[in-house]
Amino acid sequence: MEAKTLKISENIIPSNADRRLNCQGSYEAEKHYPNTKEAYAQVGTVAHELAEKCLMSGKKAITYLGKTSSKHPNFTYNQEICRNIQKYLDYVNNIYLNCESEDSDIFVEKAVDYSEYIVNGRGKSDVIIHDPEVNTLHIIDLKYGMGRAVLAKDNSELMLYALGSLKEFSGIETIILYIAQPRLNSFSQHELTVEDLYTWLENQKLNCSTRSPSESSCEFCLAKPTCPEHLAKITQITQIDFNEEISEPDDTFLNTIPAISDKELINILKHKTMILKWLESVEELVTNRLIDGGTLEGYCLTDGRANRVWKDEKSAAIKLTGLFGDKAYSKPKLISPHQAETLLDENDYYKIKDLWEKGVSKKKLDKI
Ligand code: SF4
Repeated sequence: MEAKTLKISENIIPSNADRRLNCQGSYEAEKHYPNTKEAYAQVGTVAHELAEKCLMSGKKAITYLGKTSSKHPNFTYNQEICRNIQKYLDYVNNIYLNCESEDSDIFVEKAVDYSEYIVNGRGKSDVIIHDPEVNTLHIIDLKYGMGRAVLAKDNSELMLYALGSLKEFSGIETIILYIAQPRLNSFSQHELTVEDLYTWLENQKLNCSTRSPSESSCEFCLAKPTCPEHLAKITQITQIDFNEEISEPDDTFLNTIPAISDKELINILKHKTMILKWLESVEELVTNRLIDGGTLEGYCLTDGRANRVWKDEKSAAIKLTGLFGDKAYSKPKLISPHQAETLLDENDYYKIKDLWEKGVSKKKLDKI
């Protein structure tokens, strides 16, 4: 099968490939929004850095406990990140050990070039294992997020890595895609042939003005709070089916009074994350607008509570690890001054008193 080139956008990078390919209007939609999601990416970068160090050195993740990230020097590898990255390392190792060929190769942070198919398409795959005995490529991706489990099947990012890898290894017949999301204990894999891969490419839509909302496309889209198509999707989930179901109550304990059915409850709950994230994105957009001096009728900013923060995170980490051991950290950050006090006897609060100060209060969106 002859593969085509998608000339849809130069703005496809691996991390937005799912959005760009499934909602091709997203590039135009996001163009004018500042990227406010960078802070969320920090922990992911640090996790990938630790995984790479371990895979390159063959060391266990725990070896790096207490060491500082070179990409984000204010981040110290803690128990949580070491434990989760070790789960990922074990997973990768297991795939490698199960290869048929004794001389299988493993490539870490391997540069892949898929510009043959997508204009300027390049990226780095976390791990690629080549098993020449059975003409197979294993393409493994680490996801450190906890929002929702990302599945390997039809994952655009991995499909692009697979396309880019094909020209580097001759005679490949089978590709196995893997997504390891250790914080959710989610490990997903999907096997396909080279022909399946080209069919997927062939089926990609080529309409750059069409917006197609879905949980995976919209999750990190900067245009979400103002996107009419996303709003229409939410409306469809929460209203249209709801009305239909009221006239036909199903056989539940609520079937004698007007109430939404179990079917409706299930449909709404299934989309809970999408709805909540959309509401959060709307609130964030309006809050930032008011912070920048803009207005929205009926809304204002008030001062939120100023939480206590550590004056110097490193000194606090040393002191708290001495006092509480593993309990000094909570998912993946150092515990807060308030949490530290809950671990201490009231008479011992003085032990950490000099380490914290009042933080800056956050602005909160409020009705006038
Ligand atoms: S919010 Fe969803 S539908 Fe709207 S542009 Fe973004 S990805 Fe596309």
